[in-house]
Amino acid sequence: MEFKAAVLERVGAPLVVRTVKAAPLGPFDVGVRIRASGLCHTDLEAILGSVATPMPVVLGHEGAGVVDAVGSAVSRVKPGDHVVCSWNPHCGHCFYCERDLPILCDQHIGAHRDGTIGGDRPLLSVDGRVLHHFMALSSHAEYAVVNEASAIAVPKEIPFDRACLIGCGVMTGVGGAVRMAKVTPGASALVVGCGAVGLNVVQGAVIARAEPIIAVDISDTRLALARRLGATDTLNPTRDDAVARVRQLTGGRGADFAFEAGGGEAPMQLALEAARPGATIVILGKTDPNKQVALRFGSLMGEKRIVRSSYGNARPQRDFPWLARLYLDGKLKLDELIDRRLDLEQINEGFAGVKSGSLVRAVITFA
Ligand SMILES: [Zn+2]
Ligand SMILES: [Zn+2]
Repeated sequence: MEFKAAVLERVGAPLVVRTVKAAPLGPFDVGVRIRASGLCHTDLEAILGSVATPMPVVLGHEGAGVVDAVGSAVSRVKPGDHVVCSWNPHCGHCFYCERDLPILCDQHIGAHRDGTIGGDRPLLSVDGRVLHHFMALSSHAEYAVVNEASAIAVPKEIPFDRACLIGCGVMTGVGGAVRMAKVTPGASALVVGCGAVGLNVVQGAVIARAEPIIAVDISDTRLALARRLGATDTLNPTRDDAVARVRQLTGGRGADFAFEAGGGEAPMQLALEAARPGATIVILGKTDPNKQVALRFGSLMGEKRIVRSSYGNARPQRDFPWLARLYLDGKLKLDELIDRRLDLEQINEGFAGVKSGSLVRAVITFA
């Protein structure tokens, strides 16, 4: 099998669209004809080198498409099914899966580090050289070979360019609010950082019927979008004393639930300071894993529950069809998140927009 894919040869290099080869499917592999693939900030982190991944590599971990072929032991999907790809394949029965932490699945956690979809067999190659997978997927390509546990069937009515967003940003944000924090009706929710993840935390807070939902960002454009998605109040820390305003909006106490989705110290500190004693704080943003982070110790006190989440406690098999259905029922907004649709050949332009912060989501579409 040969197809076009955007290949990253080394940190800092531009992506180059190449014709690459995939080996025949193993028993648990699924071949997916990719129809749409979102450009997520984590791909950019791999390009810039703050996320370590073996190279050369095909990036992309927010893909949707049609099942083309399945390995002999695959039972969950069949050719013709529409699927959203999950970057957290998990086995369901290891130490961590049994403890409701599928993100840490013993069987699959090595795949991200090794640049595979699990197992030792190299699947992709370019010019006779091994080509690595990214986050067990590699969706910036016409075709992807994924583990059966990464191919999640969704209703056929949802268009691919919107469906793909469910695979990372939407799941992480909505899941952060609904699955991880378990926001309760009438609770106050604070969201610091309104990129793709933060905007979807806002949507998760709407689904959970939180009130008020306070969104914070330094971009007024993003705050306007947060309002369209359901934020009741917006604050721009370049103008507003955000901590004081959050307290005013929450009866003087601070937010019941605070979500950090900005990445780095300042948004983390703001989320902690503006959360009330006993609040749940969910850290969703990222910074360089080797960076020391300094936080005011007093802001960690007051019986706060502070958790970190990479994927919003996702259970893709349960959650992807649920999120697709919410979209189809008009209860989850996805059209509003897409700034730009691109061809695979325009992928470097797309990442320039991700880097500058001018795009919430650019999506590569395939005919
Ligand atoms: Zn992502
Ligand atoms: Zn497992």
